[in-house]
Amino acid sequence: MNGYDVLIVGAGPGGIFTAYELTKQKPGIRVAVFEAGNPLEKRICPIDGVKVKSCVGCPTCAIMNGFGGAGAFSDGKYNITNDFGGTLHRYIGKAQALQLMRYVDEINVSHGGEKTRLYSTANTAFKKECLQNGLHLLDASVRHLGTDINYEVLKSLYDELSGKVDFYFRTPVQDVKKKDTGWEVITGKGAFFGEKCVISVGRSGSKWMEKICGNLSIPTLSNRVDIGVRVELPADVFSHITDELYESKIVYCTEKYQDLVRTFCMNPRGAVVTENTNGIVTVNGHSYEDPGKKTECTNFALLVSKQFTEPFHDSNNYGESIARLSNMLGGGVIVQRFGDLIRGQRSTAERLERAFMTPTLTATPGDLSLVMPKRILDGIIEMIYALDKIAPGTANDDTLLYGVEVKFYNMEVELDRNLQTRHKGLFVIGDGSGVTHSLSHASASGVYVARYMLNESEGEKQ
Ligand SMILES: Cc1cc2nc3c(=O)[nH]c(=O)nc-3n(C[C@H](O)[C@H](O)[C@H](O)COP(=O)(O)OP(=O)(O)OC[C@H]3O[C@@H](n4cnc5c(N)ncnc54)[C@H](O)[C@@H]3O)c2cc1C
Repeated sequence: MNGYDVLIVGAGPGGIFTAYELTKQKPGIRVAVFEAGNPLEKRICPIDGVKVKSCVGCPTCAIMNGFGGAGAFSDGKYNITNDFGGTLHRYIGKAQALQLMRYVDEINVSHGGEKTRLYSTANTAFKKECLQNGLHLLDASVRHLGTDINYEVLKSLYDELSGKVDFYFRTPVQDVKKKDTGWEVITGKGAFFGEKCVISVGRSGSKWMEKICGNLSIPTLSNRVDIGVRVELPADVFSHITDELYESKIVYCTEKYQDLVRTFCMNPRGAVVTENTNGIVTVNGHSYEDPGKKTECTNFALLVSKQFTEPFHDSNNYGESIARLSNMLGGGVIVQRFGDLIRGQRSTAERLERAFMTPTLTATPGDLSLVMPKRILDGIIEMIYALDKIAPGTANDDTLLYGVEVKFYNMEVELDRNLQTRHKGLFVIGDGSGVTHSLSHASASGVYVARYMLNESEGEKQ
């Protein structure tokens, strides 16, 4: 059987940064990375907008799986903050979490991100303006790599790692088994042994993760899902905000239900895209750093957080059911003009044609009120009117709403403060652990676990 010091399942940011830190700190360490998807250059989504207009359900989704994980074609926004993006700080402490996120940022910058900008909410007058209008701006620094530079950074990291780490692409791990002296992963290419095993399977691996936790009797908890829409409007409406902050995380508490609605993943001059998670098509967005690829539109999500209480545990299923309903009615993503939604009428191709906005995604014109629960839709409408006060034009008739956007939270895996399961030598990191939901937190969790494993082995030797 093939033997390694460390086995890593998943080559997303969590897995990549675990491998990076292990090989940097201990040259010669034997590391294997198993990835269900393709190497970076072979990750090509067949949707070209001409011949293939919607998701054809590839065996592994080029957007979600492969080297770089779900983040490979993302906007590459690395938010350095404990205020959102995960709860890593609850495990490793706030100062250390921030320090590791800054370390990840340095690595990204030195691997192709040199010319990108770090934005910050510190000292912005916009914070006061938000407060005066019932909105709350969260604190963060954000490095915007952009989809193009993010790709270059990943390519550079892969070039550096490929000589030091054994990558097994198109190799989904089927099972993880505990052995006397370590861990065994079972794949279609055989079984592999490692003294330690780090699982970093992200959101796309959530169902598999659940199964593995069941097999190994690792407790899990699942009770949160965020549901909403992606808003697209002329870039000028938000330019005074995005030019200064690039991305602003704004939270609003609805008057009607006291629900929290927040902006998420803001893409100035970007494009709306579809996302396929386990066959369910939802909406997302990204943008390029290259001026030549910028659009006339800005998009961002408006999400309502649903935290369920007893006896309901399956929050992801709830989110999936809503996404399925939109897929059923629209054959994928539905788009509706804000004006149509307010007037209680569906958007049609003709109404969209007449609008002063050209959608960046071809989606089915429809009626989101037939898909979204009333409480969620009411919250989104309230927040659009609140945003209209700080960015007049947000509530224009032609503002487009794409639905649905669902932010699935992986169930939280029971972990100790070192992200180790109740089984020694088995770690779960990144979005698959439920601890993180962002590029920076997932990457930082990988660095943390790599350092912990190395320190632990040194300690054992002494
Ligand atoms: C379109 C899009 C845009 C985004 N934009 C941003 C952004 O700008 N900023 C931000 O902070 N976050 C963004 N995100 C979220 C971000 O990408 C994730 O938080 C991050 O990638 C999580 O990293 P991870 O390593 O935990 O998991 P992932 O990146 O999901 O990687 C997990 C990897 O594991 C592999 N895998 C799964 N199961 C198995 C298995 N059984 N065997 C082997 N391999 C397996 C998958 O193929 C995948 O490649 C975006 C996500 C999407 C989809």
